[in-house]
Amino acid sequence: MRMPTQQGGMYRGGGGIARLLRSRFGILLIAAVGLFLYWQMNQKSVPFSGRSQLNTVSIEQEVKLGQQSYLQILNQEQSQGNAVLCAGETCSGEDAELTEDVREIGARLQAAAVELEQELLKKGYAFTPVADKFDWTYYVVHSETPNAFCLPGGYVAVYTGILDITGNYDGRLGMDDLADPDKLAVVMGHEIGHALAHHGAERMSQQQVMQMGQMAVGVSMGDMDPSQQRAIMQAFGIAAQGSMLKFSREHETEADKIGLDLLVRACYDPREAPELWERMGQIGGGQRPPEWMSTHPASETRAENFRKWMPGAIAEYESRCGPLQ
Ligand SMILES: [Zn+2]
Repeated sequence: MRMPTQQGGMYRGGGGIARLLRSRFGILLIAAVGLFLYWQMNQKSVPFSGRSQLNTVSIEQEVKLGQQSYLQILNQEQSQGNAVLCAGETCSGEDAELTEDVREIGARLQAAAVELEQELLKKGYAFTPVADKFDWTYYVVHSETPNAFCLPGGYVAVYTGILDITGNYDGRLGMDDLADPDKLAVVMGHEIGHALAHHGAERMSQQQVMQMGQMAVGVSMGDMDPSQQRAIMQAFGIAAQGSMLKFSREHETEADKIGLDLLVRACYDPREAPELWERMGQIGGGQRPPEWMSTHPASETRAENFRKWMPGAIAEYESRCGPLQ
């Protein structure tokens, strides 16, 4: 039996989808819907600021990746002649003292992080606390570079070059630069803030989604002439870079806030924070560590944030640690 009408109808429908799949618009539409769903499904809340973030990386993966790059970075420093203090068998004298001091600040901030996460859980934020799951590790790198970082998973490195800025700021580095540890605590608190809020994992997840988007754009314009293709890819790249920069600035502000919360819970003077970042902004261009080169918020924005947060931070400090001098 012949059913020409129905057959024709079915054929038209199938042809429609096939055509859509072949068309540039169709591929882009399907990719966009897929990426949107993926984006939605992998949103996690950042309790410290109340925003939500894209995060496709598990905590176990984060710790593993953090450990890998930590070892890689420290090995690289060593091969460039920058000693990692107390990494070998011997650990004595100033090396031991420096490492000990950094680890003590770390231990206090770490305890503060566990406490802060528990407080946020009690307040009803839905998130997985990580401060008690991280593999907290601290090393001091003997290097001129004023740098410090905390990788995902809690792997912290403090470069001796930063101690002059956090210490007496006299252009010379000495043990007395650690006599007053509050400013170094500001830096370490900020770096630990990045790790607690999974900023590294978020950036990786964003890059992954952007690569998928770029691939879809690439596939969909397979039949365009090369100069047009280049122009579109360039526009895509610029848009991607722009949104990454926006996220980086958001991350910096978030890390500042978390750092301040950790400071007062660990009984370090919160008033040191704005002063420290002002000092940091004064470091000469070539000397600037990569972390606060372009992504850190404009110093006015940062100062304004601290002015806004300071009364609360001081009150919290005084209720826990006694009156500030
Ligand atoms: Zn930062």
